[in-house]
Amino acid sequence: MFKLIKWLLSLLLLSGCRSAPEISSQVTKPDPGLPNIIVILIDDAGYADFGFMGSTDLETPNIDVLAKDGVVFTDAHVSASVCAPSRAGLITGRYQQRFGSECNSIPLGMGLDTQQKTIADYLKQLGYYSVVIGKWHLGLTPAYYPRRRGFDEFYGFLAGGRSYFPDERVDQPGNPRAILHNEEQIAFSGYLTDYFGDRAVDFVQQHKDERFFMYLAFNAVHTPMEAKAEHLQKFRDHPRRELAAMTWSLDENVGKLVTKLKKENLYDNTLIFFLSDNGGATNNQSNMGPLKGWKGNKFEGGQRVPFIMSWPARLSKGRHYRGLISSLDIVPTAIAAAGGDLSSNLQLDGIDLLPYLLTQTVTAPHTHLFWRKDKMAAVRARNYKLIRLDDYGYRLYDLDRDLAETIDLRKDSIAQLGQLKHALEKWEKELEIPRWLEEPEWNQVTYEIHQALMENRAPKYINPREMKKYSN
Ligand code: CA
Repeated sequence: MFKLIKWLLSLLLLSGCRSAPEISSQVTKPDPGLPNIIVILIDDAGYADFGFMGSTDLETPNIDVLAKDGVVFTDAHVSASVCAPSRAGLITGRYQQRFGSECNSIPLGMGLDTQQKTIADYLKQLGYYSVVIGKWHLGLTPAYYPRRRGFDEFYGFLAGGRSYFPDERVDQPGNPRAILHNEEQIAFSGYLTDYFGDRAVDFVQQHKDERFFMYLAFNAVHTPMEAKAEHLQKFRDHPRRELAAMTWSLDENVGKLVTKLKKENLYDNTLIFFLSDNGGATNNQSNMGPLKGWKGNKFEGGQRVPFIMSWPARLSKGRHYRGLISSLDIVPTAIAAAGGDLSSNLQLDGIDLLPYLLTQTVTAPHTHLFWRKDKMAAVRARNYKLIRLDDYGYRLYDLDRDLAETIDLRKDSIAQLGQLKHALEKWEKELEIPRWLEEPEWNQVTYEIHQALMENRAPKYINPREMKKYSN
């Protein structure tokens, strides 16, 4: 019974029943000086797959402490529901469609537009030493390497995924999945999530006496579903055994980093963002809880993500913030926290979140958020959300009343429908055409998924393999 009540309470918490953020009685804290800044990005995690998001079967004690020490955002979104465009938006603070990074399958020789500034470029100007640890996925050729994009150091791999264990077919010079230190391939041993956690701890050790920025992009819990033997043993009877074990490793390594920050007396004045790059995938057994859809689509399960912001020296602990926010907000918030000037024309789409957290305000940071990948687009305006599938049509939902996006309001809310269509089309006029597209098979699969979900039915197929079987 207790578990049932806990789950119902957590659903209520996550449901975002109110669109306006709550007013907090914030106590102003003394200025602690400029913080270190860390972005912990998780890959393909389900919305409900962390203790702090209501999970009752996946254990994340260390990440839950981070949530308890900071602010949990319940209406937080990434700017794309797949890896590469989501990362392009996060790292620039701009809608990635403005510079052609709309789709996921970056061809060789292309990548994140070199005219765009990254979070590391901005923070370097403010005196920060910066590192990428983990998955890059913003271009495979040298012009797009992390150290050409403002970062001082890189430990990780360039591609979109790889094995969690050393693999002699992959761990070779020139392979985009090989582990690099800066531009050189290096050997690694053990389990990759541990390796990245160790690099993060080492980095803090080496740079604890200067201001630093760490972009810690774990590839967990993206496929392949590979975990350490001891953790597979620990979760041997778990129905989602591999995911539970991979999530446990991820949590252990977040814990290692936090322990190191505390040991060096840096934790209180470190601004930590924690989020997933997109919704949970169908191939890693993720759980999206009350949300409809998954990675790759425009329903909430594809793009609403777990999101923590922790900065004990400045922010209240244990708060839930219900205003509409985006991963695009990380860049301006980091610039402001680092003492930078946002008044100059940086052309960012994100908004500095600090004033919303440090003052009593009832407005949400964003009135609108937009999404588009090829034929699929969406716009959010307060509690309303419009989804558009080209050559098919629209759906309009009221997320306050219908978070599961099943009740189409097009006929009941004609004025809202017109306003959202207009807002989306106006935003699209500011965009480039995509510089690359997805493979045609995936495009067809994604189209079928959207059409099915818009019709509240199960899709005929959810990957190209199934599509082939269906058409045979
Ligand atoms: Ca991803």
